[in-house]
Amino acid sequence: MIVDDQPTNIHALASLLKADYRILTATSGNKALALAQGDAPPDLILLDIVMPDMGGYDTCRQLKDDEATRSIPVIFVSALDHVDDEERGLNLGAADYISKPFSPAIVRARVRNQVALKLKTDMLEKISLQDGLTEIPNRRSFDQKFAEEWGRARRDGQPLSLLMIDIDQFKPYNDHCGHGAGDDCLKRVAQAMTGALSRTPDLLARYGGEEFVALLPGTDETGCRHVAKNLLEAARSLNIPHAHSDAAPHVTISIGGATHGGQTAKPDPETLKKAADDALYRAKQAGRNRYQWECEDLSPID
Ligand code: GH3
Ligand code: MG
Ligand code: MG
Repeated sequence: MIVDDQPTNIHALASLLKADYRILTATSGNKALALAQGDAPPDLILLDIVMPDMGGYDTCRQLKDDEATRSIPVIFVSALDHVDDEERGLNLGAADYISKPFSPAIVRARVRNQVALKLKTDMLEKISLQDGLTEIPNRRSFDQKFAEEWGRARRDGQPLSLLMIDIDQFKPYNDHCGHGAGDDCLKRVAQAMTGALSRTPDLLARYGGEEFVALLPGTDETGCRHVAKNLLEAARSLNIPHAHSDAAPHVTISIGGATHGGQTAKPDPETLKKAADDALYRAKQAGRNRYQWECEDLSPID
């Protein structure tokens, strides 16, 4: 994204870069912020310093203060060529500083370097939140989302439900079918369960080993039961033979559910997780391949 109040300056930079990049333009700091906070944020911002209304330094400061835009690299492009200007820009968190008049080849090289770094950072961030085997969100991703959604549920007074999910008798499956088949089974179960979640804010993550967790924002006990049934069915309908399970002749899962809200409000997220874990334990005890909610009297065993 090229940000400059002078269309001729925008044009000069755009003509240098348009063969290699898709270019967004903004003629003010406010427009730049709106685009950066939108659905298709840029991978790099080339930012003029002297602009009416909001200058480049303020624009940069606001970009860096906002979690959503902080990671977008900023290169200042300015006729201010004193070392103090450059120092100020870099201290605000800019990635680079180009003084005008600039050399076209150097602008292209600096842009190329910053974009390459941004794409690499994005990829590392994505990997750090994804489980390598099943390619679904990992525990780190769940922990982040859980903390966010707990805060949101608190603020909005909405329910928040959690399902702890564990593959039944997976150790004998591994022992008899081999670790490779075990890995393959984990992938298929993870993908099938992900496909069974329909609401956008829902998150299914691999919690560890053969254990998964579903985070269901805005979902009460009834919704929780509905999702759990769909997940049980998703695992069953894969029909993966399991000759050494007491629960069924195919691979199954057990689910424990708990809800924060109404009669079952919890003081903290750990208590919600513990309630779902305890319910999972009871589902296992009761024979596996089933769903158990935290309050048995309100929700008898499925
Ligand atoms: P239960 O029904 O009580 O849950 O019994 P279980 O056998 O599933 O439970 P247990 O905790 O005894 O065994 C879990 C097994 O899951 C142990 C290990 O063999 C297997 N496992 C955990 N992570 C992986 C993995 O990444 N790949 C494979 N192939 N197996 C895994
Ligand atoms: Mg298990
Ligand atoms: Mg387990």
